[in-house]
Amino acid sequence: MAAYDIRVFGDPVLKRVAEDVTDIDGDLVDVCNRMLDAMYEAPGIGLAAPQVGISRRFFVFDFGAGPDVLINPVITEFDGEWEMDEGCLSVPGLSWTITRPKRIHIVGYDIDGNERTIEADELEARLYQHELDHLDGKLLLEYLDDDQVKEAKRILRERLLASGAAPQRSGGLQLP
Ligand code: ZN
Repeated sequence: MAAYDIRVFGDPVLKRVAEDVTDIDGDLVDVCNRMLDAMYEAPGIGLAAPQVGISRRFFVFDFGAGPDVLINPVITEFDGEWEMDEGCLSVPGLSWTITRPKRIHIVGYDIDGNERTIEADELEARLYQHELDHLDGKLLLEYLDDDQVKEAKRILRERLLASGAAPQRSGGLQLP
């Protein structure tokens, strides 16, 4: 089975608030494996379901400790501040220094339906916060100032034109 295509900025599914997963079953295992294939191929260290067009609350990740998934995640505690140069597979090739909490406590479920509770720091904490934003329909651009957003949209628009992937609608490009 082919890996999923990763949706990029401009796709409305990325702005939608995803719904809770209600069934943790074999179908979800297959979906997670296909998402992991797409994530490793990209390559990236995390991929949220909306990024492959599935508006459900889960994400796959591997920050060096092996492939994993977190389902219906909720962050229950934040602490400190940490700056990091952060990018996103849905905003390809761009990154910005973004400050977020340094440590978090996150809870959710694993692929067997067991409860997980994780204390995370630095890169691991950043990854979970980034992926959780995707589940809430938020992209990195929401952390930027107006000039940075303008510049990012200009670059993304130019790339889209250069790739010949611009939509052939009479209204032209539909970047928000
Ligand atoms: Zn992302």
